[in-house]
Amino acid sequence: MQFYSLNGKSPSVSFAEAAMQGQAPDGGLYFPSEIPQHNWLHSNEWKHRSLVEIGVDIMRPYCAGSLPPEVLENIVYETLCFPFPLCELTSEVYVLELFHGPTLAFKDVGARFMSRCLEHLNKDGDKKMTVLVATSGDTGGAVAAGFAGIEGVEVVILYPAGKVSPVQEMQLTTWGGNIRALKLSGSFDDCQAIVKQAFQDKDLNEKYRLTSANSINVARWLPQQLYYASAMQQWQQDVEPVISVPSGNFGNLCAGMLLQQGGLPVKQFVAACNANDVVVDYLHGSAMDDRKTIATLSNAMDVARPSNFVRIMQMFEHDRKKLSAQLAAYSVSDEETVSTMQHACSQLQYIADPHGAVALYALLQYLEKHPGNKGMFLETAHPIKFPDTVAHAINELPYMPEEVRDLYQKPQHVTELAADYDSFKALMMG
Ligand SMILES: *Cc1c(COP(=O)(O)O)cnc(C)c1O
Repeated sequence: MQFYSLNGKSPSVSFAEAAMQGQAPDGGLYFPSEIPQHNWLHSNEWKHRSLVEIGVDIMRPYCAGSLPPEVLENIVYETLCFPFPLCELTSEVYVLELFHGPTLAFKDVGARFMSRCLEHLNKDGDKKMTVLVATSGDTGGAVAAGFAGIEGVEVVILYPAGKVSPVQEMQLTTWGGNIRALKLSGSFDDCQAIVKQAFQDKDLNEKYRLTSANSINVARWLPQQLYYASAMQQWQQDVEPVISVPSGNFGNLCAGMLLQQGGLPVKQFVAACNANDVVVDYLHGSAMDDRKTIATLSNAMDVARPSNFVRIMQMFEHDRKKLSAQLAAYSVSDEETVSTMQHACSQLQYIADPHGAVALYALLQYLEKHPGNKGMFLETAHPIKFPDTVAHAINELPYMPEEVRDLYQKPQHVTELAADYDSFKALMMG
């Protein structure tokens, strides 16, 4: 399988090259030359096979020629090392919990798959690979956990001081070894600007083999299809599900829609956004305009211009009408997020995190307008990652999993830095 750039000005590449490059040289996102069709998804037999087997079948066409079969099997096995339970809340509303991984967020799936791919692909490289990543919270932790202890790869994480939650910060700083955490006295945008500049810096690129770990990388995007397959294995209802996805950069939703195009029987996808709702407006007829990022309670979804949306457009031949027939979209305010957390707690006996609550709200809106349907929402993070918001909404602290309690015992390894490029460069060159 080849991957082509959606900007159309770079040559097509293999999975291996796309994973090592991240973004195409022309600045475009890579897209597979064809969407593999899995006719077996329409039968019921596959529901009894192991998820690892299914996962290998889904990933094989993409990775063929880049990863030997036994390597792919092993990577899928190590990626799917935690469960994705589908839980019933009412006879119509289900929740797919994606937070049982090492950093308690769904990003663990993509990060684990990608880290193991790069380890294999860089095996014979003469230079160590350095993954540079700016994070506003969840990405950095998932990437750090995915790469911790991986041979030949070093990770440098930049995060804004005082702007990530305590649990998120410990998930960045308690690794040591090949994981380096830099705490910058600035904003997330400052961190991202420094990472962008680093990729253009000749001196740094001579010294390091730099790569990015953001969600546009195909090795992070494509394996996200696997938990949608797990959800359908567990779906016992007589109607196809509506699936509501809390969306920021739209990688998660885009992976689900890709598998739907490959044959997964989903009735309808719902894009659940917070106040950063440019896609919602676009699907309802507005232009795709430039906007400023708005800070919300579901901060992992505070993205003004979602990078992965162009991949969804590509799947629908850039036909807005065709896409809006297949994709419902809702914008959910902070007030609605909080009231949904309260409703979930008191009426459904469920503690949702703010991101899951956005998706639950959108699902309930959709089901109300389209009676007779049943659906699920994706719970993308454990509520303990957002303790202040949750406690404020429901007067209760979520249960603290053992992994989180352990974090408080571990020493932190962190370098504090001014948020300017020269300080960063001096540190890296020193
Ligand atoms: C990253 C993130 C999202 C948004 O996912 P995208 O793939 O960027 O749309 C939603 N919820 C949580 C908890 C996240 O960390």
